Amino acid sequence: MTGPTAPREADAGCDAPLPPLSAVIARHDLQPRRALGQHFLLDPSLCGRIAREAQPGSPAVILEVGPGPGGLTRALLAEGAARIVAVEKDRRCVAALGELAARYPNRLEIVEGDALAFDIATLGCTRIGIVANLPYNVGTRLLLRWLERVERIESMTLMFQKEVAARITATGGRDYGGLSVRAQWLCTCERLFDVSPRAFVPPPGVVSTVIRLVPRATRLAPADPDALDAVTRAAFGQRRKMLRRALRGLTPDPQALLERAGISPEARAETLSVAEFCALARAWLALRKP
Ligand code: SAM
Repeated sequence: MTGPTAPREADAGCDAPLPPLSAVIARHDLQPRRALGQHFLLDPSLCGRIAREAQPGSPAVILEVGPGPGGLTRALLAEGAARIVAVEKDRRCVAALGELAARYPNRLEIVEGDALAFDIATLGCTRIGIVANLPYNVGTRLLLRWLERVERIESMTLMFQKEVAARITATGGRDYGGLSVRAQWLCTCERLFDVSPRAFVPPPGVVSTVIRLVPRATRLAPADPDALDAVTRAAFGQRRKMLRRALRGLTPDPQALLERAGISPEARAETLSVAEFCALARAWLALRKP
């Protein structure tokens, strides 16, 4: 890891440099709290790399979850974010971010609160970019919420623990599951790069991965979301079994369902494409209709 964040005075609209992040952390006594998943990024080049991947100048508004002491926030502002709404649960960090918000009038708004309770519809626009070094304990839940509002989102550039990122981006095999199908049905999902635990203060016990999700203009294939959930849950619930057995909990006649969907009864969940899961969901709904 390199030293603390160097200010970018040219972007700051004020001559005095921003204090280094380490000074912000010391002044506001931001002892990292494990319960809040606090692992801070102080390396300006890494924050800059994530910010550049997010192309923050493009969306009308950037939602940043968990800005902490503001390393990534600074980088997003430096890379041209016109408006950032940053939702942070830790009051100590909210206080620490105040001087950054003062430095960038009308470009940075800090919201104190739980991101799980923050509805992106309140941002009042349909070109939202979401950028976050996510707290690991709520990352998947947040992603699932955002996927429910995907029509408002332009892109999501998110850091997860490596295993979760692999589950989101997998197209088959061990990591492939309901989360992969749901995310890829709605978005293109791209793994960008890994981040070593040493990049964080304090270092977490796991490697992290930055991924990008870009909502598709239309779903990958037609399907009812609840039916898609039902078939993926049943299929991955017994992922080692052939589908003709794995789907017994879903329907009394899996063979007929699979035939109607045009899928081999000997196939296993791990080998089905997202489009095939959609076909399965459509066939399941059609067979249930009286
Ligand atoms: N973005 C900062 C960085 O990269 O240095 C901090 C990232 S740290 C992994 C996660 C941040 O999310 C912490 O600042 C933590 O306080 C905040 N956080 C944890 N749970 C949250 C929640 N439910 N809603 C909003 N913020 C949360």
